[in-house]
Amino acid sequence: MAQEWTPDSWQSHEARHLPAYEDAAALADAEATLAGYPPLVFAGEARALKADLADVAEGRAFLLQGGDCAESFAEFHPNNIRDTFRVLLQMAVVLTFASKRPVVKVGRMAGQFAKPRSSDIETQGDTSLPSYFGDIVNGIEFDGDTRRNDPQRMVRAYSQAAATLNLLRAFAGGGYANLRQVHQWTLDFMGRSPWADKFSQTADRIGEALDFMEACGIDPETVPQLQGTSFFTSHEALLLPYEQALTRRDSLTGEWYDCSAHMVWIGDRTRFPGSAHIEFCRGIGNPLGMKCGPSLEPDDLLRLLDTLNPAREAGRITLISRFGHDKVEAGLPRLVRAVKQEGHPVVWSCDPMHGNVIKSDSGYKTRPFDRILNEVKGFFAVHRAEGTHAGGIHIEMTGQDVTECVGGAVAITDAALGDRYHTHCDPRLNAAQSLELAFLLAEMLNM
Ligand code: PEP
Ligand code: MN
Repeated sequence: MAQEWTPDSWQSHEARHLPAYEDAAALADAEATLAGYPPLVFAGEARALKADLADVAEGRAFLLQGGDCAESFAEFHPNNIRDTFRVLLQMAVVLTFASKRPVVKVGRMAGQFAKPRSSDIETQGDTSLPSYFGDIVNGIEFDGDTRRNDPQRMVRAYSQAAATLNLLRAFAGGGYANLRQVHQWTLDFMGRSPWADKFSQTADRIGEALDFMEACGIDPETVPQLQGTSFFTSHEALLLPYEQALTRRDSLTGEWYDCSAHMVWIGDRTRFPGSAHIEFCRGIGNPLGMKCGPSLEPDDLLRLLDTLNPAREAGRITLISRFGHDKVEAGLPRLVRAVKQEGHPVVWSCDPMHGNVIKSDSGYKTRPFDRILNEVKGFFAVHRAEGTHAGGIHIEMTGQDVTECVGGAVAITDAALGDRYHTHCDPRLNAAQSLELAFLLAEMLNM
């Protein structure tokens, strides 16, 4: 019999990767402020996403999840939000058009601030300071004052998340995502990419399909599905004081929901059995993701699934594998088999980013595009062999023309990484690389 759950029951469990706040009164003050603020999303929306994910679990749809590794206060700008949203839409159009299946779109946006770090301390020369844990905790600049953990940053992150979500809702429902606009979504700098031409051809074909519908008497302007799109938000539920403060009881069902995002996930470093993060997530009604890396044993995975989804509800759990290009084909099958044999309904999604980080010769943390692609190929090969559905992809990307991952058709070289390396944490695919990945994925979906 499971112990009773409350929004704060995680506090009596082992919590890794949570920041220590020196001033307990300041923490309590920030938590009280957040607890009095409106929810960012509603329980009914989280349930709608769960229903869409149930379709993915059953093999009828595909999940596209992407955005920054870490959102930042410095990069907060409407154009950045628009550009990331636009690239996700372009990717979704390419995938929908090729696979003839709906694509569930989930941003790593409007709350993806907190980061787990391998070390609590960063040393530069003779100076050691607390590591950077994301803008919701402390600042990235290497000085003692900025690196101090400040609970008021949670309040600022909430405001940024609220404004981001407001803009995303407007883009998704206010005409920007209308399929008639599909040509307008091409970004200027994509003109240099061979994939921009290919996208333009897809856009032409969509335009023809809409013209054909209209000629048959169906006015696309009256079809809500063509006028806008559904778009959901997600982030890692890492900073539990923030998540707890935004956890509210749904007036309709009486269930608790974490109203900071539609979906939240548990990271690879905090998904151990008995963790505070597992405890928190088991009690909220949101759809949940869980990262599955090479250290996860099938038995532990099954126990975690029993804890997080005892009712075996389809759409509740998305397992996001992140093995690395050279480990996925050896490591993933045992997890897939165990879950299949046990009959747990899950979405299998592939994060080809976190197992493929290398340090470049120029000193930057990067991810070679080839390795990213190879992990995705390996993921598809495993699911084909096991007879399971390769259900989705989880990527770190941006709509900006950054130079953070090497490779791709507009080949970013090691020497070019310094040109526009802006990430606050891990290297992201840029707009052209993201679109390229979507076209290559579309081929795999059709195999
Ligand atoms: C992340 O998604 O940014 C992350 C930290 O991933 P993981 O938990 O898989 O390492
Ligand atoms: Mn990351």
